[in-house]
Amino acid sequence: MFSAINRKVKRMALRHQKRKRVVFISDTTCRDGAQMPGIRLSPDAKVEIAQALADAGVHSIDCGFPAAGPLEIEGVRAIAGRVKGPVLSALSRTKIEDIELAAEAMAAVSPLKRAITLFIGTSPIHREHKHNMTKAEIVDTAVRSIEHASKYFELISFGPEDASRTEPDFLKEIYEAAIDAGALSIGFTDTVGILTPRKAAAAIRHIQDSVRNIGDAMLAVHFHNDLGLATANSLACVEEGVNVVQGTINGIGERAGNVALEEIALALVLHEDEFGRKSQVNPARLHAISKMVSDLTGFEPAANKPVVGRNLFRTEAGIHQDGILQNPDTYMPFPPELIGAGPVEVVLGRHSGSAAVKHHLEANGTEATEEHVRMVLDFLKNEEHAPDDMAEVEGFLDRVRPYMTIDEYQPRRNGAKVSDSA
Ligand code: MN
Repeated sequence: MFSAINRKVKRMALRHQKRKRVVFISDTTCRDGAQMPGIRLSPDAKVEIAQALADAGVHSIDCGFPAAGPLEIEGVRAIAGRVKGPVLSALSRTKIEDIELAAEAMAAVSPLKRAITLFIGTSPIHREHKHNMTKAEIVDTAVRSIEHASKYFELISFGPEDASRTEPDFLKEIYEAAIDAGALSIGFTDTVGILTPRKAAAAIRHIQDSVRNIGDAMLAVHFHNDLGLATANSLACVEEGVNVVQGTINGIGERAGNVALEEIALALVLHEDEFGRKSQVNPARLHAISKMVSDLTGFEPAANKPVVGRNLFRTEAGIHQDGILQNPDTYMPFPPELIGAGPVEVVLGRHSGSAAVKHHLEANGTEATEEHVRMVLDFLKNEEHAPDDMAEVEGFLDRVRPYMTIDEYQPRRNGAKVSDSA
């Protein structure tokens, strides 16, 4: 167990961290994300993801749950041995054997970067149906596990599972006991993704106002997206002053997934005026990491997924195309370059207008006469039959067909006309 002096030094360092105007981003793509049905990540794939997250500026990484089995241990070991920079954490139940496994798997990490996250279900339904334990037994188990973990770990997080369905007074009690026992971070978890922003904020306010020793621990949140509110909930908690937001890339995870970190990171960049705090994540890396995670997991986000969906910078609608060809900002909330994405794509389809057709004709070296434009539009809007006068233009169909697939152009900013397709 660490000494009283050691503890004092750690608390001082922690208070310094808490004063920073920063929202620390914690990633659990390789653990909670990888629990998504059908996803299998090899240890090497986990290392690749973790390293990309480290390079992007993520503060801490949940490497895995060693008690889940040998392959999981291999993944944790691989990250622990090869990824440098962020705090690396292993997940563990409040059981001696889990803690021992976590300590073993994390042995390669330097003491000040090596963390363990202990969890136990605290809600009535978890207490009664999963653990069959009283409140006092739950608190006692949590405290003893923290004490045992402090033999191996300087950095201990405690996360009550299903916190959002736990009685606020019991949460307060167990957080206070955990912090007294040596936890440097406590988590508020919405394990089943049931909260709304207002209720999430109220829960955090209650913790901030009532937990006697909250100044001695970082406060982290972990939201699931069952109601599509994970991002809004996390940001509501940021407003209430939480220090850490944990989530996954592309929002992968159990059921509707975890909060998508790219959404949190970008919201903090675009609305710094509102939140007053930024994350340390470089937004320009977000698109590439999203792509990497979708390639390695085989799970591609929906085309309309916020921030990283493939439709974010594509449009087929005539009025939007016309605006975007003059200046992409007309119909885009942020430039693709901000997240390392792009170029903008103008798609030809039945909703397209003459501006997009002209653009594509010129880009492909075809004279954009009024007649040509009209013929292409007729064709696009009546896909099932080509216009009667099609035959008038030699090879017309052959020239139009490529436009039916997605074409790309590099937008020019400052109101300049977009003239070329790269
Ligand atoms: Mn979770």
